[in-house]
Parts: sequence; structure tokens; C-alpha cells
Amino acid sequence: MIRLADSASHLEPLARFGLSVLLDSSRLLPVDDPSADVVQLSIGTARAAGGGDLFARGVEPHVNDGEVVVESSTLEMLGALAGGVADQKAPERDRFERVPAHVNPMVVAGRFREPIVSRAGGILRRAAEQAAGRRPVRTIAPWPDGRRWAMALTHDLDLVAGWPWYNHLRAAQLAARFHLVQAMQVLAYGAAALGRNPVWRAVRDLLDAEHEFGLRSTWFIICGTPAFASIRAGDVTYLPESPAVKRILAAVAEGGHEIGLHGSFETMLDGGRFRAQRERLESLTRAPVTGVRQHFLRMRPGATQQEMASARFGYDSTWGFSDRNGFRLGVADIVAGWDAHRESLSGLEEAPLAWMDRALSKYAGIENPERWVDDALELARACRDVNGVWVGLWHPNLVPALGFPGAPTALRRLLDILMAGQPYAERLDRIVAWRVARRSLRATRVSPDGRAELAADRAWNGPAILEDPRGGPIASHHWPQGGA
Ligand SMILES: [Zn+2]
Repeated sequence: MIRLADSASHLEPLARFGLSVLLDSSRLLPVDDPSADVVQLSIGTARAAGGGDLFARGVEPHVNDGEVVVESSTLEMLGALAGGVADQKAPERDRFERVPAHVNPMVVAGRFREPIVSRAGGILRRAAEQAAGRRPVRTIAPWPDGRRWAMALTHDLDLVAGWPWYNHLRAAQLAARFHLVQAMQVLAYGAAALGRNPVWRAVRDLLDAEHEFGLRSTWFIICGTPAFASIRAGDVTYLPESPAVKRILAAVAEGGHEIGLHGSFETMLDGGRFRAQRERLESLTRAPVTGVRQHFLRMRPGATQQEMASARFGYDSTWGFSDRNGFRLGVADIVAGWDAHRESLSGLEEAPLAWMDRALSKYAGIENPERWVDDALELARACRDVNGVWVGLWHPNLVPALGFPGAPTALRRLLDILMAGQPYAERLDRIVAWRVARRSLRATRVSPDGRAELAADRAWNGPAILEDPRGGPIASHHWPQGGA
């Protein structure tokens, strides 16, 4: 439990955003009740602003009896990281008009493999416990069903039509990098797959594996009309209304998985096209499409999200690095999106992408899928350590016939190990819904023995579990009715 001191109401917008992210990731139950004897969080103004502090020393709250003090400069820095402010303001572009990784402060500091912002939440939680003395401290259980962390397995459907051409392209790419044995394998598998619809088989095998492991995933589908130029650019290469894609959509929906939009190049700065693609996809799925991730992760940070929000998406999952795996917003979590130019919330939730299968293949020339999986597991451990969520991307076309010998076996090892850690393995829309609901939970009254009356602005179909700061369960409440 924690109550904000008056000093928190005078913060500038970015620091206020940083404070809300910090409180949310601490899982400390916010208290509205002014008479409750609980730990108070106050804002200090002793230190000047500066990023070096946060990377070098961490959040460093000051602990008094019944009070935790966090510097406003720290909150600003947390807000800037979680809001992607440097990426939003950077003028640099790569060949796909994306903002390159080297402008990101996590990359500059060499710390992009660590969820620094999420870790700050744990530091605040421990500080509150220290400051509490005999005052009650309650935290909110991190995930539903008693789970301590979460995983969202996602799939971008990039390839359906014209696969033999991509098989040859991939073989040529492997050969050019002197992976000659693999190049020959790819051609041989491709030749053997002629007439056997390897794209559909790959999708079906992937769905079978997910069914076996008992997890639900999220599929991002491109929804434009292919033309010569879009095919040559690797942008829109298939028609969503074609029988092959319809069969995939039906099988994905049948398995209870989520379907979101994989925004094609034309959407990047165009809310109207975002909306048209979303509606076109909804007419095929006959279910609401709330999630979006850009193809090639091609976005103008901030501006693209503005267009997504105007097209009424609920969440975005584009905030990952295109050339490496890690935490571009410093969080292994779902956070409210931040618009750096308007200095306000974007209206979208962000589900940053931490790992994708081909980051090491494309940019480091590592063609052994087992190494990709090692990389995924390392990041998943970091997510688990902060009770966060690992968002991973596995392309459905990673099968031998389409250029990736050894990939399906590696995926099974990945799922085996991830699922053994008992994550909340769910669709992203469900994961986002939980995090939004959890974030809205607060205590309207606290009695001296620590019992809390709860309120929440967002509904959740399940109990609200309160814990002690070490994770021991204390009380299970019915989820309170909406309060706002
Ligand atoms: Zn894509």
C-alpha cells in the first residue's frame, strides 16, 4: 500500500507519467483514504535531472519512518525511458525509414537487455516495506490464476503466396553468407514441398504445437492488396480474402487465438488506412481487432501510434528493436503509451516486443535456431525476475521448406522451457486487459489491521488478490465494480 503525498500533484507531465509507471510496476496497492496509516510516497527535488543517475545508481528512494522519497528527476527519467521519448524525438532514419536502435538511451548505456524501469518497481516495493514498520503493506498479485509472470507468443504472418520464390531467395541469402550446407538443404526441402502447400502445413503444425502446450497466441495479419511494387518490397505479398489466408484465419480463430493487424507500409502515418485495414480484417474475422504491430516494425515512434489511436486500436506491439532483442522501453511489461510531442498519454497501451526469432539471423548472421532460442530464454528470465511479461515473435514460415532447417525443433524446446516456468500464457488482448484492470485497482478505505475496501475503474472477470510484499497471499476480494 502506498499513498501519494501532496507533492506528487505538482509534477510536470513527464515525471507524473514516470510516477504512474513506477507505481504500477511496484504493484503496491494505491490508497485514496487520507486517514489511513500507510506508507506515503513523497517527491524530492534535491538532485538535478540526468540519465546517468538512473543507469549508474538505480532509483535509490530515500526511506524514512512511514515515508519513501523519490526524486522528481528520477521520475522524469523513468517516464522518458518508458515513453520512448528519445526515439520519438530522434531525426535519424534507417533504410526502412525507422529510427535506428543507437539513439535509444538503453542502447547508449549498453543496458537494453535489462528491464530497468520494471526493476525500479521492485526497488520501490522493497523501500515501502522498509519504511512501513508496523503499518500494513499490501501488493496486488502480478497475474491471474496465481501466475508470477506472463508470456505472449505472437506470430506475424508475412508469407502466404509465392513461397517457392522466397525459398530460393532464402537459399541465395544463406549461400551468400557461406552457410552452404543449409542453403542446399533449403532448396532440397523446397523441392520436396512443391505441391504440398508448406505454408499451410507450417501454420497447422504451429497451431498443433500450441494446442499441445495449452497456450493461446496472437497472430498479426497483413490486410492490404498486393501489387507488383508491394511484393517486390516485401510489404503486402498476399491477399487476405484469398482461400489460403481465409483457411489460416479460420484455423487460428478455431484454436481460440487472437487476430490483430500487421500494419503494412502505407499505414505508417495514415490513420484512415489503419482504420480501413482494421475494418477489412474485422469483416474477415467477424471479431473485433484491437491489437496492431507494424510490418518490419516500421513506425515513426509516437506519430504512428497517434494514427493507431485515431483508428481506435486498443494496443500496439511495435516497440521492439528491429536489429536486436531487448527492452526498447525499459519495461518487461504492458505500459500506457506516451506521446512525447503532446506530453500526454497516447491513448494506446504498449506491449513492447522483447524478442523475435530472426533478429540474430538477419542482423548477426547467426543461422542456428538453437542460439535464437537461448537468446529468447535469457530475456524470458529477465521478464520473470520482475514478474513481467515476455513478448516474443515467432514467424510461422520458419520451417525447412521455407528456408529454416531446425527451426521447428528449436521452437518446441523454447515452448517446453517457457511453459515449465508456468507463465500466464495468453493472447495479448487478454494480457493487456488484465494489466489495465490491475493498474486501476486501489483502496478507498484501509482499517488499522490492514483490511482494505477496493475500487477499480476497469472490470476484470476474476478475483483481486492482495499479497504481502514477499508474495504471500493475504486476501482475495471480488473484483470491485467500476468506479469512474
Ligand atoms: Zn512482418
